[in-house]
Amino acid sequence: PAMARLVASRVLDVPDFPKPDVLFKDLMPLFADGVAFRAVVDGIVEHHGRDSFDVVVGIEARGFVVAAAIAYATGKGVVPVRKAGKLPRAAYAESYALEYGEATLEVHQDAFTAGQRALVVDDVLATGGTARATLDLVERAGGTVAGFTVLLELSFLGGRERLSPRGVHALLTV
Ligand code: IMP
Repeated sequence: PAMARLVASRVLDVPDFPKPDVLFKDLMPLFADGVAFRAVVDGIVEHHGRDSFDVVVGIEARGFVVAAAIAYATGKGVVPVRKAGKLPRAAYAESYALEYGEATLEVHQDAFTAGQRALVVDDVLATGGTARATLDLVERAGGTVAGFTVLLELSFLGGRERLSPRGVHALLTV
């Protein structure tokens, strides 16, 4: 509840972004507040336990911010999951449906050693398409998913159901 209150106090609602009738949740105020950001990063590490994962996976682009902080705090490395066409070497790709069209995420084929345990992080869980593709990519590339954490879950969009039976940890669910 303390963590949820903290996140709630540092989110701005932006109407009609990136398009009409979408209420965008902007977490930049949380990232910009050093005390709050550290508390959130420490809270995630505490929830999962620093020995429960070997590497941190961040989803482009805001997931990178959180992933890098968790990795630094725990002495682990970061594996980026990127939008199509950004990775320089051989990559696996997963595509998923958006409201209009399709999106593709990629990870390097050699990103994980066999069975390496990945803590996957992103800022927001909405419909779950991004998360679903990322968790699939981790497993295709030989890693295992040790946990999946978001700062904010928009529960009315059903992301959690879409990821089932995998679980999600959310600092704040609205
Ligand atoms: P999903 O695939 O529909 O779950 O959307 C989640 C992805 O889109 C995450 O990578 C988020 O960073 C981004 N996203 C979706 N909605 C929001 C929002 O309201 N605020 C910030 N990011 C969002």
